[in-house]
Amino acid sequence: MGDKIPLSMREELLRKLPQVSKIVEHFRDRYNETYIKSAVREVLDRYRREILHGDRESIDNLLTDIELRIREISYFSLKKVINASGVIINTNLGRSPIHPQALEFLERVAIGYSNLEFNLDTGSRGHRNEHVEWLLCQLTGSESAFVVNNNAGAVYLVLNTLAKDREVILSRGELVEIGGSFRIPEIMESSGAILREVGTTNRTRISDYERAIGENTALLMKVHRSNFYMEGFVEEVSLRELVQLGKRYVLPTFYDSGSGLMVDLGEKGISSTEPTLKDCIDSGIDIVSASGDKLLGSAQAGIILGRRELIERVKKNPMSRALRIDKLCLGVLEFTLRLYLEGREEEIPIIAMLLQKPDVIKARAYRLLSFIGVIPGIEAEVIREFSRPGGGSLPELKLETYCVAVRHKDLSPDKLSEKLRGLEIPIIGRIKDERLLLDMRTVSDEEVLIIDRSFRALFLQG
Ligand SMILES: *Cc1c(COP(=O)(O)O)cnc(C)c1O
Repeated sequence: MGDKIPLSMREELLRKLPQVSKIVEHFRDRYNETYIKSAVREVLDRYRREILHGDRESIDNLLTDIELRIREISYFSLKKVINASGVIINTNLGRSPIHPQALEFLERVAIGYSNLEFNLDTGSRGHRNEHVEWLLCQLTGSESAFVVNNNAGAVYLVLNTLAKDREVILSRGELVEIGGSFRIPEIMESSGAILREVGTTNRTRISDYERAIGENTALLMKVHRSNFYMEGFVEEVSLRELVQLGKRYVLPTFYDSGSGLMVDLGEKGISSTEPTLKDCIDSGIDIVSASGDKLLGSAQAGIILGRRELIERVKKNPMSRALRIDKLCLGVLEFTLRLYLEGREEEIPIIAMLLQKPDVIKARAYRLLSFIGVIPGIEAEVIREFSRPGGGSLPELKLETYCVAVRHKDLSPDKLSEKLRGLEIPIIGRIKDERLLLDMRTVSDEEVLIIDRSFRALFLQG
C-alpha cells in the first residue's frame, strides 16, 4: 500500500490540509470549542500520518470525519439504554435500576451538604454507616450491620479481618467466578487468607468440613453459586449444618449470599429456594455478605450482617476506609431499605420486574407489535419465552415472558442489533433463531413508545 501514492502527491495533500484555526471557525457556532479543538487535532494528526505513509489519497472527507469525532466526544459517554434483553439484573447494563423517588431524595441530600458523618445530637463526628445500620438490623434480625463499596469488598474485608494468614474451609463446589473479575480463590488470596478446599465439585458433606478443621482454621465459609445451577448427583452443606459445626468447634461461620434477597419469593408466588437475608441470619450464621445492587434493588454496595463482636472487628480494619461506601450509593440504599420496611417492596424496580405477571408483559408485547409490526420491511410477532433474573441471582429460575420477535427484510439479526445499538437511546435485545427478540419483561410502558419512535426514525424514510 505504502508505495502506491507518489511522493509528490503526498506533499501536495499535506499542503492542502487546512489550518486548524480555519476548521475551528467552521464548527464554532455548532459545538463547544474544547471538543472542536481536540477533534481537529486528532483527525488532522491521523490524516497527516496516513498521507505520509501513503495510505491516503484524498482529504475530501476531512470535515465529515472531524464532525463525527466532535459528536463522539461531546456527547455523554454514559447514557440511557433500553434493556430489552429480559435479563433483569444485567451487569453490563448497570445492574439494578433505581427507584425514581430515591433520586429525589438524593437531590435533597447531595446537591448541598448533609450530615453524612456528623452526629446532629452531639455536634461531633458521626459515622456514615449509622444511616442504614438500624434499618438493616430491623429487616434481617441481625445484631449489627456494616456497609462498604460492594460485595467483593465486603468479602475481602471479612476474610482479611477474620482469617489473615489462617485457613478458611470452603467447598470445591463453591469456588465460583462471578462476572469475570471476581473469583473466590483470588479474593481469598489477596485478603491473605489461606483457602482450604474440601469436598468435590458436585458433592460436599459436613464431614468434609469437619475433617479439614485444624489448629490453623479461622473460618468456615459458604458461597452462593449465584450464576450457575447444578442438578443430578449433587450434595451441599446447608447453612444450619455449617452453623452447628462452627458451634462445636468454636469457629465463626461466614456466608457470601451474593444477591441480597430481602423478600420471600415463595410468598410472592415465585418458586425459588433462595434464602432471604433474614433466613440467613435466622440460620445462626455469624456473618453474611451481600450486594446492594442485585436482588436487593438498590445502588452499588456491599452489606455485611451478623454478630456484633465480629462486625466491630471488620469495621476497625484499616481497609474499611479504602472500601467505604459513597454518599450517593448510601442515600439510595437508605431509601430502598425504607421501602422494604414500609411494605412498599413491590415498588422497587427489580422486584417489580421479577414479580410482573405474564399477562401484563404479554399486553405490552402486543402493544409494541401493533406499533412496529406495521412498519414496511419489518416482520414481527409476539412469542412466549423465558427471561432470566441474571447478574448472579436465582440461576435456577426461568420466568415466563413475552417477546416481540423482529426480522428486517434487508438486515441480518446482527446488523439489526447493531443499528439499534447505534441509536441515541440504544435498544439491547437478544438474538434467537435468526430473529431479534425484544423481551417486554424489562421494558417499561414509556420505553415501548421510545422503541416505536426509534423504529420509525430508522425504517420509515423521511
Ligand atoms: C455478585 C457476587 C459477588 C460480587 O459482588 P459485587 O457487589 O459485584 O462486588 C460476590 N459473591 C457472590 C456470591 C456474588 O453473587
